[in-house]
Amino acid sequence: MSERLLLVLDEGTTSTRAMLYAPDGRRVGMAQRELTQYYPRPGWVEHDAAEIWDRTLACAREMVDQAGGADRIVAIGITNQRETVVAWDRRTGEPLARAIVWQDRRTADACAALREGGHERLVQERTGLVIDPYFSATKMRWMLDNVPDVAGAGDALAFGTVESWLVWKLTGGLHVSDASNASRTQLMALDGAGWDAELCTLFGVPMGALPQIVDNAGMFGATLPDLLGGAIPICGLAGDQQAATIGQGRLAPGEAKATLGTGAFILTPMGEVLPRSAHRLLGTVLCQIDGRRSYALEGSIFVAGSLIQWLRDRLGLIEAAEDSDAIARSVPDNGGVYMLPALSGLGAPYWQPEATGTITGLTHGTGRAHIVRAALESMAHQVQDLGRAFAADGAPWTRLRIDGGMSANDWIAQDLADILGLTVERPADVETTARGAAMLAGVGAGLFSDLAAAGAMASALVRFEPAMEPARRMERLAGWRKLIKG
Ligand code: ADP
Repeated sequence: MSERLLLVLDEGTTSTRAMLYAPDGRRVGMAQRELTQYYPRPGWVEHDAAEIWDRTLACAREMVDQAGGADRIVAIGITNQRETVVAWDRRTGEPLARAIVWQDRRTADACAALREGGHERLVQERTGLVIDPYFSATKMRWMLDNVPDVAGAGDALAFGTVESWLVWKLTGGLHVSDASNASRTQLMALDGAGWDAELCTLFGVPMGALPQIVDNAGMFGATLPDLLGGAIPICGLAGDQQAATIGQGRLAPGEAKATLGTGAFILTPMGEVLPRSAHRLLGTVLCQIDGRRSYALEGSIFVAGSLIQWLRDRLGLIEAAEDSDAIARSVPDNGGVYMLPALSGLGAPYWQPEATGTITGLTHGTGRAHIVRAALESMAHQVQDLGRAFAADGAPWTRLRIDGGMSANDWIAQDLADILGLTVERPADVETTARGAAMLAGVGAGLFSDLAAAGAMASALVRFEPAMEPARRMERLAGWRKLIKG
């Protein structure tokens, strides 16, 4: 292998991976390790930050070996599960507590108290986020209140999201966080260069424990030479959903990307205009390069691919996720069956945390295929409802780009095009998160002049055009609306 490569560390919720990309966009290697999930109490989700580091390093070493040594790697890009909080000791570089994962709901009461205290307006205006346990700030405060080692660390305490933790370990003490990750903590104003003193006071987080906020692309530091056999520059950092948006190539105004994984995350780039939602979508930093920020509106659907897992593991209706496509096609329609997939409440735009799931329209004629088909159909309906919220916020979609594990399902891709009445595009390689981190690292290392040039790394697209008869579409929409209202 003669060309020099980009190494991506993609640290997800259930696994950590390392991937190698050639500058023309080809992916030439991947290593993956599962991560242990800790559920110490209902609603609590934790990770072992030491394990995250060990397994990420093991994957990185595998890829550096495959590349033929550290000098074959131009730069490292890191992308990560967002909002998850790690606390460590600056003196030892060791974690002080288990990391609290984004899904963790333990701070629900603290969030309710903040809302009752009338603070939501300030937080929403300044950060673009609603007050919810999802974000990092209340998790940090919880650690200070409940973990003696964190409370007692004093000036040695370091807080960070996962990219921040990995950079510290890789470099031996650089404490930075990129603007896209920082925008998910609830401690940075969307248009503020640093941490916001008023927000830090409100959430009770000492500013001195937080990292320095940096761009998404640049020369941030280099790996300690003995870790990977040489000092490799770290040149790209981004939260996973922002990285996926970048990895989809340059999205034109009005285009949206939907990552259909365990849940579904939809982002629309808003350029340099500060996003303001009146429909409880989130405003977030998409990217910061040379100190200039661009923004996105974001909506999340909590249950997407996990519904297919539920059909497989709990109901036993399918043997493998891929089978759902053929089973849905085996019947001409849903037979009047509709499914509300509120297995863990409903996210945007409904925001009903207490909602539970429903299946309606069952008759003697209903078979397994109708139920599977109704489950797949619920994806397009949820995305369409979210699309209406984006339009109401002044960001209507003109086309949708999909990625993530569930986007491999052709039936779902076509149904999305049919129900949305929009062209749906899917890249040949649906791993857009890692690709986006590779593009950022390429920009940071100077391989590309900017993200537009890095768009050369984006993969080719497959298109799905709307083809459903209007009467049939209206029937579907009416059936879904009845379900949501019921
Ligand atoms: P994550 O990154 O959230 O772990 P992935 O992007 O790897 O998720 O997607 C995995 C999810 O996609 C699983 O929930 C799985 O049920 C679903 N999935 C994978 N393949 C298919 C398919 N062909 N049809 C429908 N769902 C699928």
